This record gives sequence, C-alpha cells and structure tokens, in this order.
Amino acid sequence: MPYIIAEPCIGTKDAACVAVCPVDCIYEGEDQYYINPDECIDCGACEPECPVEAIFADDSVPDQFTSFVEKNRNFFGA
Ligand code: SF4
Repeated sequence: MPYIIAEPCIGTKDAACVAVCPVDCIYEGEDQYYINPDECIDCGACEPECPVEAIFADDSVPDQFTSFVEKNRNFFGA
C-alpha cells in the first residue's frame, strides 16, 4: 500500500516528508508534493512528519480525499 498526499498539501508544501523519505520517492508538483507509488516502500516515515496531516496510506484515505489517490498516480503517468 503506497502512501499518498492529499489536499492539505496544496498551499502548504512544507516538504518535511521529502527530508525523511528513505528512498526519495516524494516529488514536487506545481500545487503539491506527490509520492511515486512504484517507488514508495510503505515505511510510513513521512506520515507523522506532515504538519498538516496530508499523508495517508492509500487504503486509509478519508472519503473527501479519495480523488487524490488517482491524482498521485496520474502525476507519474501511471
Ligand atoms: Fe517515502 Fe516511506 Fe513515505 Fe513511502 S511511506 S513516501 S517510502 S517515507
């Protein structure tokens, strides 16, 4: 289960997650950061680092953010 980044990142882009990701799979997009689902090793290190709680395991995404699972994948052309 890769992790995904949801709406709270938009307008925030704190990037604390980028610093802790052991495989450098978090990439900067125009409006938010994105996690490459093919590179994420599901370690969970990024989730508690986010100051706006934008990061979720993709099977634990709150209903209002489910579209961000696809948005993350689309960013990488998946
Ligand atoms: Fe990186 Fe781990 Fe977060 Fe995946 S779960 S994006 S590997 S820090």
